[in-house]
Formats: sequence, structure tokens, C-alpha cells
Amino acid sequence: MIELKGIRKQFGNHVVFNDIDLQLERGEIIVIVGPSGTGKSTLLRCINFLETPDAGQLTVGDLNLDATTATRDQILALRRRTAFVFQNYALFANKTALQNIAEGMIVVDGIAKREAYARAREILGRIGLADKADAYPAALSGGQQQRVGIGRAMAANADVILFDEPTSSLDPQWVEEVLGLMKQLAAEHQTMIVVTHEMQFAREVADRVVFMDQGSIIEQAPPSELFSRPKDGRTQQFLRKIL
Ligand code: ATP
Ligand code: MG
Repeated sequence: MIELKGIRKQFGNHVVFNDIDLQLERGEIIVIVGPSGTGKSTLLRCINFLETPDAGQLTVGDLNLDATTATRDQILALRRRTAFVFQNYALFANKTALQNIAEGMIVVDGIAKREAYARAREILGRIGLADKADAYPAALSGGQQQRVGIGRAMAANADVILFDEPTSSLDPQWVEEVLGLMKQLAAEHQTMIVVTHEMQFAREVADRVVFMDQGSIIEQAPPSELFSRPKDGRTQQFLRKIL
């Protein structure tokens, strides 16, 4: 249902990755782990063309596109199918929680304001922030801001939500509430690709853990298998440091 084939990205003459293949089924949850600078964020960003891949094919649902020939319409269609949750929340500071969630539905999806606000209120309820509809980001805790960030991704009704270290900017006391919301989405079979260092989350929630090192996918397996019986020396070494 989601397939990356031969994805390549370089910045100047630094090749981040050359030939990434990755597939996931609808409802599948994968966690990507690996050392810093290995290309995890760049890969996620390539999946919705926040970074333009230099080569490769992307399939999301019935949308197929080739990185080198993708049209503007294809890229917009791809962005609608792939929602992004950022490490630093990336909320609009001058919009309330409700407006942050409604904005994309109004601007991107062309949903009438009234309807968009009704849906945004429903999402605020699901993310446990019904009472914060009119709060601006500055008046919310980090955990609440990130829940709004996730709410905004939920509003996009995308085929897949891409999370780039969604809890690593948070003070420790807010981490669990954000992971809790992600677990709730997982229980609803939301397809997700999550880059995180939260190994307990990976263990509990991931269908598959993908280990990346120096721009390559070294191995991938269900967490029980990858964490207890990593095959490759690089995976073993990484896990020794982090577990
Ligand atoms: P981390 O765990 O620290 O977040 P990462 O695995 O997400 O690391 P990326 O951010 O994807 O790594 O970076 C991969 C490589 O690409 C790094 O060498 C980085 O310096 C480089 N890079 C990333 N973005 C850019 C950019 N916009 N311009 C130039 N180089 C970049
Ligand atoms: Mg990163």
C-alpha cells in the first residue's frame, strides 16, 4: 500500500542514501531507528516531498509517482496522503489549537469553515484537549502542543502519518501523554512510520522495526526479533548502546 523503490537523495555531493526500498501495508506501524546523521529524517521528508528525492518511485495507495518526473499535482496529491508530525510541533503561533487543526482542512482540502471547525472540535476531544480549543500554542505545554500537532495530522485524514522524533523536544513529564496518543492511533490501525529513540514504544507498538545506518536499511524485523536477535553487527552495536 506504501512502497518506496530506489529512493536516492544527496545534498551537494554528500549522498545521504542511494537506493532505499521500503514497503508497508495499510494499518502497519513501523519504527525507524539508527544513529544520528544516518538519513532517517531525510527519508521521512522524501516520503512527502518536504525534500525532493533525486531518484526513485513512490507509491501511496493508488498514487504512483517517479521522483524525477513528478508533477506539481502529483506532489500535492502525495502530500494529502502523507501527514507529517514534526519534532518541534511546527504549530502556527498566531492560531488557536482549534484553528491549527482546522487550517489544513480549510486551505488544503477546501472544506467549508463550519464543517472544518466541527471536525476539529471532534479531534480535540479525541486528543483530550476539548477544553483547549481557544488556547494559543504559547499557552499550552509541550505535550499539549505536540498533541495538537498530531491532531492536525489526524485531520488530514492521510493514508500514513510520518512522525519524526515526536517526543524528543519534550520535557520528560510530557513524553508519555504523547506516546499514549500515538498508541491510541495505533490501536485504531492508523498506518504510521515513526522515527524515535523510544525503544519501549517500538517494542509495544511497532509491527516492524527498521534499522538504518549510513543511508542504508541494514535489517528490519518485528521488535521482539530485532531487539533480541539482531543479525547484523551494526545493529548489534547500535542496540548495545541504546537498550
Ligand atoms: P538524527 O538522528 O540526528 O535526527 P537523521 O538520521 O535524521 O539524524 P538526517 O537529518 O536525515 O539524519 O541527515 C542525514 C545527513 O544529511 C546528515 O549528514 C545531514 O547533515 C545531511 N543533511 C540533512 N539535511 C540536510 C540539508 N538540508 N542540507 C544539507 N545536508 C543535509
Ligand atoms: Mg533526524
